[in-house]
Amino acid sequence: MRTPILAGNWKMNRTVGEATELVTGLLDVSKRASGVELVVGPPSTALSAVADALRGSSIGVAAQNMHWEASGAFTGEVSAEMLVDVGCKYVIIAHSERRQYFGETNETANKKLHAAFGGGLLPIYCVGETLDEREGDVMEDVVGTQVRDGLAGLTAEQAAQTVVAYEPVWAIGTGRTASRDQAQDAHAFIRGVLADLCGEGVAASVRIQYGGSANPGNIAELMSAPDIDGGLIGGASLKAESFAEMADIVQGVSAAA
Ligand code: PEP
Repeated sequence: MRTPILAGNWKMNRTVGEATELVTGLLDVSKRASGVELVVGPPSTALSAVADALRGSSIGVAAQNMHWEASGAFTGEVSAEMLVDVGCKYVIIAHSERRQYFGETNETANKKLHAAFGGGLLPIYCVGETLDEREGDVMEDVVGTQVRDGLAGLTAEQAAQTVVAYEPVWAIGTGRTASRDQAQDAHAFIRGVLADLCGEGVAASVRIQYGGSANPGNIAELMSAPDIDGGLIGGASLKAESFAEMADIVQGVSAAA
């Protein structure tokens, strides 16, 4: 039985004051959300304040990126140890915006996954195809390679703890959500790749989130698919009310399953 995980990716939004106010608005839902793990991903400037505001609650904090080296001359970067130091539990790795705008590859993602585990963080590893790739019928090639290359060399225990976020690029921030069947097919495919890579037992325990224009109006249907174990939420995580509403819905779906 996999506990669903609902994570907010705030991207480059919210000052420290706004971030603190947002998570303060989530404290009530965290008290009643027993069947879903909640995570917020503020920008790096607000990580410390958000972690302080959430101390004692069950909501985890995720960074949106990290470098794979532990320290050194890497201007503008932060390490896993630094993120743990300010209270992070998770780190989002290789979000499609980082792949698209900042040159991240499956190889750099793999280094980051290893460094995350080495530094005491749990990775939320993002994969997903572009519209051209879906229409060109190479979704499975692209996503299969992302999963295999990204997780290469992890131990079975590390692979089992990795959260994979399937985020079709054409659905991110576009208002165009993958249908339940499209998402389920992709998630089942990813679980099959994980089974080849790490064995059925590990594959069965990996949580695979869906991401791409998920919101309170469509999350229940997505969550009703057997291989969808939560969501990585952009726009709809920026307001406490909509993220809390999604948390309640995910909890309800998982309780009924
Ligand atoms: C994301 O950025 O990970 C995302 C899924 O964004 P949105 O929910 O806004 O599509």
